[in-house]
Amino acid sequence: MTTTSAQAPGQLVFTGPRRAKPPRHLADLDPAARRAALASLGLQPFRAQQLSRHYFTKLTDDPAAMTDLPARTRTELVTAMLPTLLTPVRELTCDNGTTVKTLWRLFDGALVESVLMRYPNRVTMCVSSQAGCGMNCPFCATGQAGLTRNMSAAEIVEQVVIGARTLARGQIAGGPGRVSNVVFMGMGEPLANYTAVLSAVRRLTDPSPDGLGLSQRSITVSTVGLVPAINKLAAERLNVTLAVSLHAPDDELRDTLVPVNTRWKVAEVLNAAWAYAGITKRRISIEYALIRDINDQAWRADLMGRLLRGRLVHVNLIPLNPTPGSKWTASRVEDERAFVRVLEKHGVAVTVRDTRGREIDGACGQLAAAPEPGPVEPAPAF
Ligand code: SAH
Repeated sequence: MTTTSAQAPGQLVFTGPRRAKPPRHLADLDPAARRAALASLGLQPFRAQQLSRHYFTKLTDDPAAMTDLPARTRTELVTAMLPTLLTPVRELTCDNGTTVKTLWRLFDGALVESVLMRYPNRVTMCVSSQAGCGMNCPFCATGQAGLTRNMSAAEIVEQVVIGARTLARGQIAGGPGRVSNVVFMGMGEPLANYTAVLSAVRRLTDPSPDGLGLSQRSITVSTVGLVPAINKLAAERLNVTLAVSLHAPDDELRDTLVPVNTRWKVAEVLNAAWAYAGITKRRISIEYALIRDINDQAWRADLMGRLLRGRLVHVNLIPLNPTPGSKWTASRVEDERAFVRVLEKHGVAVTVRDTRGREIDGACGQLAAAPEPGPVEPAPAF
């Protein structure tokens, strides 16, 4: 696999190197485009909906299971429209099998990771939208290797479909289940891959059989704060939740922690977020990794409280997860508590995010898609 080399500190990469495109897949296309694709292959366009039902509703891509299709057509359809996009390389589990991190190889050797997290009343899939990331946040493992390439819509959707299939078949601890939430919080900056991410959101939320039928409200798109793309997303008028990775309330510190802040300042990002909340009526999530003695001072909590109070907002504080080579560590418990108290004093809703997946490097900021094997794992159950 060729990857871009690590970027210089603060350097931003918005477009990856040109690479071959992944094979076209049903999940890249809206229903009309699926029919057109079949027609151009000399296949009957109405088969598109049958195939969509197999893929999105029955969660199968196995031609043998598609008994409502003539045997010869099945193979042709699957070959043309459901090429293999993700190959499992390694699967790590923790929390008694209710957290599963999977490392995937894409068609060109690029590596990405997704994480399935089962809770008592929901299952969240955390998906990658790019192989690597060009945003270069120094505390995030993904940012350290640079951007390899954008993922296609179908590569993004496949992570969810495979998770849904594994759950439906009862292969995740806790018995058969369904994916209820999708968060674009895996590798990559989703808003730097806008078209594919938006297309993936449509596939995830279009009702069956055209899509997976998840509610728009159960989808969260997380961004470092690409203001023009936030505005564009607002104009789509989707009920998708927007999460903003703030990490500092002041430009001086944020310029270093989230280098894209040198383009779009805290005030601009927050203004775009408030406009998004105004249009969608959805509460904005603010992500804030608490880094010991870097961004966890009470005065910063106070400044943040002033910026956020009275807004439709919820703050997720994330105790910094360890990443290789990072000199930073999580805040002291007393500083974390003080930070929460100050925000609460301003009337800002705040929770401290659990560190799900930390022991398998599957928590926030730990996805690095390192190919070297960890402990020997049983073959993935796919
Ligand atoms: N690029 C998008 C999507 C990734 S979401 C974004 O940044 O929003 C991953 C979240 O985990 C982001 O809020 C990110 O800032 C945060 N994060 C990154 N590294 C982390 C770390 N080491 N500990 C805790 N959170 C981290």
